[in-house]
Amino acid sequence: MNNKQQYIAILGAGESGVGAALLAKAKGFVVFVSDKGKIKDKYKKELTENAIEWEEETHSEEKILNMDVVVKSPGIPNRSAFIQKLNSKGKRPIGEIEFAARYTDAKLICITGSNGKTTTTHLMHHVLKSGGLNVEMSGNVGVSFARKIIEDTADYYVLELSSFQLEDMYDFKADISVLLNITPDHLDRYEESMELYGQAKFRITQNQTEKDFFIYNADDKEIQKQLKTHEIKAQLMPFSLIDESVAGGFMNEEQQIITIKNKLTMSIHDLALKGKHNVQNSLAAGIAGRLVELRKESIRESLSDFTNVEHRLEFVAKVNGIEFINDSKATNINATWYALESMNAPTVWIVGGVDKGNDYDELIALVKEKVKAIVCLGKDNEKIKEAFAGVVDTIVETTSPMDAVGYGYQLAKKDETVLLSPACASFDLFENYEDRGQQFKNAVRSL
Ligand code: ADP
Repeated sequence: MNNKQQYIAILGAGESGVGAALLAKAKGFVVFVSDKGKIKDKYKKELTENAIEWEEETHSEEKILNMDVVVKSPGIPNRSAFIQKLNSKGKRPIGEIEFAARYTDAKLICITGSNGKTTTTHLMHHVLKSGGLNVEMSGNVGVSFARKIIEDTADYYVLELSSFQLEDMYDFKADISVLLNITPDHLDRYEESMELYGQAKFRITQNQTEKDFFIYNADDKEIQKQLKTHEIKAQLMPFSLIDESVAGGFMNEEQQIITIKNKLTMSIHDLALKGKHNVQNSLAAGIAGRLVELRKESIRESLSDFTNVEHRLEFVAKVNGIEFINDSKATNINATWYALESMNAPTVWIVGGVDKGNDYDELIALVKEKVKAIVCLGKDNEKIKEAFAGVVDTIVETTSPMDAVGYGYQLAKKDETVLLSPACASFDLFENYEDRGQQFKNAVRSL
């Protein structure tokens, strides 16, 4: 810091805000943390122990308007009145990721998309770590990036970034950016516009230069559309499940082929993660692995011995020959589409919860092909019943995982599957998707 003392306000005291506060303190700022809601006790304690001033259930606007830097939580929408006011006074807030990135020279591999971020972040981290690199993961997963940058011990960070986080990033640059897909989700924050939502996701490429790389899903219609309106300087590394001519990698029948430098070929049956969506995730991770010069053998091995993250097409148990799969994290149609697509046996499908504007018609063809019965698990199942009446003969309604699993067990036969892939958020009956997945697994284990 040069001679003048710098003041920073941090809006929102969750994991990212508290991480930013601690990093700012370590870098010599005078720090003030302000949260409009209640701050969790563990964070209050941490702030107090580090002699950081904080307030809750209010924002002291005048004080914050006088700060040199304002960092905001991605949970606070940019259209909120106070953020607008800060902008109009020339105090545009930045995100925690942007702030933290100022203090590291490590290589940043950043992953965004509507679905598959967490899976791909974990997979990418595993690939790089198995290849012997000094790498950590952060962003939306685990410990905040800012908190990691206090010590800054890694050479590479794999960061999962949501569109909300990207919205608050301006000068940040990824060395390798990854865009998995753009499908409807969170449209409420983007005035119901795919265009605006997609633009937020494309910020992952901003400031990239010819030395950097952009890995993306060439099959995604919205990405194709937005590629035409964004000038991207990074070297393009598309992957595809249908087009063999793309530059980064593709799937050809039963093979996944990465075309960077000399070819890396691998049977999709050797991939740890099953389903076409996971071929996309594996391609993205494999391409990045090649770009950072990992050996082919090492990439092959790590893509095949990875253990999936909980609640994502997670195998739970086989009970009397019936397989139970927990895909509680599938909170939108696209994620469920891929889950159904990857089913190889007649499936009893457990679906429902809080619908974020789902168009179930997109699933009808797959449901016809794969689903033998539907078990609704939600308070209001009208839309589901309406969409699939006439497509599936048996549709039952439940409001507890115990009952849903009970029906699943009754309706499925040996060698068939019971799949929880709700296509909906969980908060009508559960605390969150983890709670829903955990209760489902407990119910299966008590059969
Ligand atoms: P995110 O972090 O983006 O929410 P997750 O990795 O947690 O993504 O996965 C969310 C859901 O999407 C899970 O049901 C998972 O099986 C599914 N999924 C994973 N990868 C993809 C992908 N590339 N395309 C579509 N769905 C995916």
